Parts: sequence; C-alpha cells; structure tokens
Amino acid sequence: MSYKAQMKPPVQQQIALKLEDSVGFSCDTCGGVFFTEQMMLRKWSKILTGTPEDYVQPIPCFRCADCGTPLKQFFPKGMKDIEEGLGLTEVEEPKKSSLIV
Ligand SMILES: [Zn+2]
Repeated sequence: MSYKAQMKPPVQQQIALKLEDSVGFSCDTCGGVFFTEQMMLRKWSKILTGTPEDYVQPIPCFRCADCGTPLKQFFPKGMKDIEEGLGLTEVEEPKKSSLIV
C-alpha cells in the first residue's frame, strides 16, 4: 500500500476577463457612459444602536458625470427618504387589502 499525498497546492482560479466580453453601463437619462463615485451619508440614531453617539456611515453610489442621474443598478435599496427625492421609487402595484372596510 503506497501513501499518496492528498495535499495539493491550492489552485488559484484566475479568470481571464476580456474587455470585449464585458457590457457597459450607460445613463438611463442621457446615455452618458462616464460616472463619478459619490458618497451619501446615513445616520442611525443612538437609540437604535445603543451607543453613546449616533452612528454615521458613508454609502458609495455612482452618478452620471454628464447629467447627475444616479446609476440605479448600484443604488442601495432601502433609503426611501433619498429615493423619493431622486425619483427612484419603483411603482408598486397597489395590493388589495385583505381587510374589509
Ligand atoms: Zn446622464
């Protein structure tokens, strides 16, 4: 019986990405293809976090360099106050209430 070492050097998976296989992003409003990274700031109340100070975290987002429209694909969801101001709220089908009024 021969002992075969099962240990193999870790195979580094390197995916050769070719630019010609990629797909570009463009602005929904003006078709621009240049974007600038910007930061939004979100604050969590110290009441929620249980810390002595409010918690503030920057949230990165991209905006069209030409017209300023946020790139929706990367816009983090869940900031309804900002989404409404930017017109990013998705129209939801009104759900029928199960409550009989
Ligand atoms: Zn644009």
